[in-house]
Amino acid sequence: RQAEFAKLRETPAFTRDGVKVTLLMNAGLDVDLEVLADTGAEGIGLFRTEFQFMVSEEMPRGDAQTALYCRVMDAAGDKPVTFRTLDLGGDKALPYMEAEREENPALGWRAVRMGLDRPALLRLQLRALIAASKGRPLRIMFPLVASCDEFRQARALVDTEIAWAQRRGRPAPSRLDVGAMIEAPSVIWHLDALLPMTDFVSVGTNDLMQYLFAADRGNPRVSDRYDFLSPPALRAMEAIQKACAETGTPVSVCGEMAGRPLEAFALVALGYERLSMPPAGVGPVKQMVLSCDREAARRGVSALLKSSAGSVRNEIETLARKLYL
Ligand code: PEP
Ligand code: MG
Repeated sequence: RQAEFAKLRETPAFTRDGVKVTLLMNAGLDVDLEVLADTGAEGIGLFRTEFQFMVSEEMPRGDAQTALYCRVMDAAGDKPVTFRTLDLGGDKALPYMEAEREENPALGWRAVRMGLDRPALLRLQLRALIAASKGRPLRIMFPLVASCDEFRQARALVDTEIAWAQRRGRPAPSRLDVGAMIEAPSVIWHLDALLPMTDFVSVGTNDLMQYLFAADRGNPRVSDRYDFLSPPALRAMEAIQKACAETGTPVSVCGEMAGRPLEAFALVALGYERLSMPPAGVGPVKQMVLSCDREAARRGVSALLKSSAGSVRNEIETLARKLYL
């Protein structure tokens, strides 16, 4: 199968009825860059910047951050890279940073919340990203945005850093896109207000589903009590896709869900056309896209959204098998 996937490397992913699905790769370390060309991914849809912090013995300085971001952009060449700002806290602790013990770390001081409360750290990172872009396009997204205010504040920090670089005569990015990750269920009911403030959004289904179902994604006692292929999960994904289509906001999915062929099939059926996934998912998902008829998939999956079942995985599998396997 590996050889089959390799053959598809240069083949763009179009469904049988002609819908282009852009397949991107998730990354976080230098080693990931080596596989970018091999996967045939059209870019990096999620670069997890906290990995550099997690593998370092001490807080990476601004110049070390700039150097990494520069290597990432160099390796990607013309392919787009979406850098996610530090997503620390929760399950991602740093040995050299003192952290308060929290009763509920997943619901606690993490991601963009930490960045907004410690703006010096976030600004240093934004400065490094802008410096690394050196006149190239730059895409930045903020993790776990739970309100419009948080996004507004985070975006203002980007503006501040762009102005800082300009005052020093540094080259500005040739194009700047600032986006939000959709991971907190609260924003699903505020997308009409949030989306116009963003240049793009990306759905982090790992976190979104754990919050939607109130079930820790890392706790096997509860993490398999719910299914991503269930009516509530798919209806949440449908609502996000529709709101983005209405406002013309580019949207991708970057949780692990996007990298599993059956889940990706359901996402394509719901109208998603940009999926970012672990490198190993690109080949299998491309194979699915190439043999899928989106319109037939859409009809089949939307009929299942009204089911009262806790999972429609088997039904989706039957549908997918009929359509592509
Ligand atoms: C997610 O939550 O789906 C996501 C992509 O972010 P992470 O897995 O890094 O929390
Ligand atoms: Mg997340």
